[in-house]
Amino acid sequence: MRIKALWAREILDSRGNPTVEVDVMTETSFASSAAPSGASTGRHEAIELRDGGNRYLGKGVTKAVNNVRKVIAPALLGMDVSDQDAIDRKLRELDGTKDKSNLGANAMVATSMAVLKAASAADNKMLHEYLGGTTLPKAMFNIINGGMHAGNDLAIQEFMIIPESDSFSERLRMASEIYHVLGKQLEKKYGNAATSVGDEGGYVPPMLNTRQACDAIVKAIEETGYRCTLALDAAASSFYDSNTRSYHIDDKELSEHELVDYFVQLVMSYPITSIEDPFHEESFGAFATLRENLPEVQIVGDDLVVTNVARLREAIAEKSIDALLLKVNQVGTVSEALDAAKFCKDHDKKIVVSHRSGETEDPFIADFCVGINAGQIKTGAPARGERTAKYNQLLRIEERMEMQA
Ligand code: PGA
Ligand code: ZN
Repeated sequence: MRIKALWAREILDSRGNPTVEVDVMTETSFASSAAPSGASTGRHEAIELRDGGNRYLGKGVTKAVNNVRKVIAPALLGMDVSDQDAIDRKLRELDGTKDKSNLGANAMVATSMAVLKAASAADNKMLHEYLGGTTLPKAMFNIINGGMHAGNDLAIQEFMIIPESDSFSERLRMASEIYHVLGKQLEKKYGNAATSVGDEGGYVPPMLNTRQACDAIVKAIEETGYRCTLALDAAASSFYDSNTRSYHIDDKELSEHELVDYFVQLVMSYPITSIEDPFHEESFGAFATLRENLPEVQIVGDDLVVTNVARLREAIAEKSIDALLLKVNQVGTVSEALDAAKFCKDHDKKIVVSHRSGETEDPFIADFCVGINAGQIKTGAPARGERTAKYNQLLRIEERMEMQA
């Protein structure tokens, strides 16, 4: 099926910042997709194009939108929508840079995702069916926010829970109940303001250190009686000081070596089963040291790897990670994200498909996660529309699979 029309517009993301939405039309299908946007972005990510100037305080994306309308659309018209590789290759050719800064990764990723959706619609399939996957993921639900996603003193960016149950809908229900129990407990202890939420929908209590957050979460889990472990995204680049080569956390300055110890002690105190970006984004060696010290814990690479096969190869060679955090917009096209997923599978590494802190109502990653049989997803709290858009889509997918079984 040929691409008949392609269009783009500027819309707002969940933080109220502009982002790019792209529509793709074929003779029999129509689909839209929108680019998400990070706050704690990795240095090696593909670059999103912003206008600068006064409009939207410099964050407008009219240049990226015009790149879709004037450069990408004419080149893609008439191409076979199901030939994702050829379309993504064309996008890279048109861009001509390594970091996608010319057309903008926001323009490219929204186009690439909309093309995949239009191809699955033209084939009369849900996206996960079109991709051929059947695995409903375990989810990491972010229930306390810190770091660059919150206005509190917690250095660690994300405190997440992983409920354990056979079905996705049960895991979501458990997460929702734990989230609300936690909210009530925080309100009791810290007052009403403690249940304000951060960028990913987790609470932002006025806590001072990591242990206070872990204690609160364990208490909420205990009250529900559910089987549930903890996961952290330290996003450690955000509290690393390259001048002193130290990490600012819990009002202390820790060396790399001390931070290894810090995580080991945490894991001894709490049921933590996954830690993402425990060190800054160039520290392949420190990741490997922690991995050696914590063989039972999944070490996840986000800013370290940026969904990029070259960095993934290095991380695997250095034995830095157990899993890749997969964000399509970090690399800029669907095909390159699929390459990264395949590389992981070929090397027995796990995959966690991820949202960004700035999101839209587009549920793309829910379908994509099932479609590639990733097995794990993190897409924020079980609250706020841009987060529940993904969890609710997983409910629909689960229901559809049950009906077909
Ligand atoms: P970001 O955060 O979208 O702000 O980069 C998400 C993450 O670090 O996993
Ligand atoms: Zn991260």
